[in-house]
Amino acid sequence: MIYLDNNATTKPAPEVVEEVMRYMTERWFNPSSPYSAAFEAKKDLEDFRAKMARLLSCDPEEIFFTSCGTESDNMALKGYALANMDKGKHIITSEIEHKAVLGPCRWLEKAMGFEVTYLPVDSKGVVILDELAEAIRSDTILVSVMAANNETGVIQPIEDIVRIAHERGVPVHTDAVQAIGKIPVDIASWGVDMLSGSAHKFHGPRGVGFLFKKKGLRITALIQGGGHERKLRAGTENLAGIAGMVKALEIAIANLDEHAARISALRDALERGILERIPYVVVNGAGAPRVPNTLNISVKYVEGESMLLDLDSYGICASSGSACTSGELSPSHVLLAMGLDHATAHGSLRFSLSHENTEEDINRVLEVLPGIVERLRKLSPFGKG
Ligand code: PLP
Repeated sequence: MIYLDNNATTKPAPEVVEEVMRYMTERWFNPSSPYSAAFEAKKDLEDFRAKMARLLSCDPEEIFFTSCGTESDNMALKGYALANMDKGKHIITSEIEHKAVLGPCRWLEKAMGFEVTYLPVDSKGVVILDELAEAIRSDTILVSVMAANNETGVIQPIEDIVRIAHERGVPVHTDAVQAIGKIPVDIASWGVDMLSGSAHKFHGPRGVGFLFKKKGLRITALIQGGGHERKLRAGTENLAGIAGMVKALEIAIANLDEHAARISALRDALERGILERIPYVVVNGAGAPRVPNTLNISVKYVEGESMLLDLDSYGICASSGSACTSGELSPSHVLLAMGLDHATAHGSLRFSLSHENTEEDINRVLEVLPGIVERLRKLSPFGKG
């Protein structure tokens, strides 16, 4: 199998699996229990928080463990909005956010009477900064823009966004789920006020994530119960998952430069090879800064879903931007926001690599994809057959 869908999820690193197993077999105690085995678990939990804070350049008190990136985004958007409604009910985000951000925004609009401005992006998929400056109002309480897009890999100008928002006294949340492990993420130098992450996107275990929240920033707990995570996220801590996440983050950061160089060389070879071999292909996000592992292309006159099925028959796992909701295929909202027409957006494919990929993997895709496209174009009602 050739796995090129690492933006969906990554294979846990062997050291991560070992660490999770160790915590599940040796340190499975409830960190809140009143005996020494549990005290050890509690100590480990706080050591992990401190390590995580060091790796991301923030304070241990500013790290809150969650169950996934989606929960972290909900905690940031809804938690912050509910706690700060007295200051205003306007939020700014972008048109290209993940549903984990768009969903809470829609809920705040519908259920809580908030107004949300969705910032447009340019044709390369980068948020238009001038639009941000114009969108900020006296009742704007939060700006939330992702650090890197999951479909195109395009990196957003977070430091500029923070500068513009902070000049007007508005805090910034960033969904860094697709940035962590791919580019340096330094909370202190970025200057963000909240940041979401998810372990399974950087070779950690599924079911664990975190939210960084700057000290002093008020948020309302979305999950009430036993008062865990300083009363902001109740629920017995997933210590084994947290152990695995911290191990994964350590490994990702230690190898970041080396992996980025190798992965981007493979990604670029794949991109070049496709453009050389297949006519009528556009690279979405070309010319913008991109994370090293992501290649998003639109193959004109073909449907992404059909290419995926054919690739799968060769054991190649990739993804398309289309989302199949209740049997209806809708093209990617990200690609539409970048100005692609529906047909071109429907022909999109996303290859997302990891350090486990090899030159042979890339060569195999380059060997089979042109034939797949040629065959599908012959059957295509859109012409160019
Ligand atoms: N945000 C982005 C940018 C993502 O790509 C994803 C997952 O694809 C999420 C949030 C949600 O993360 P999780 O799967 O951990 O809930």
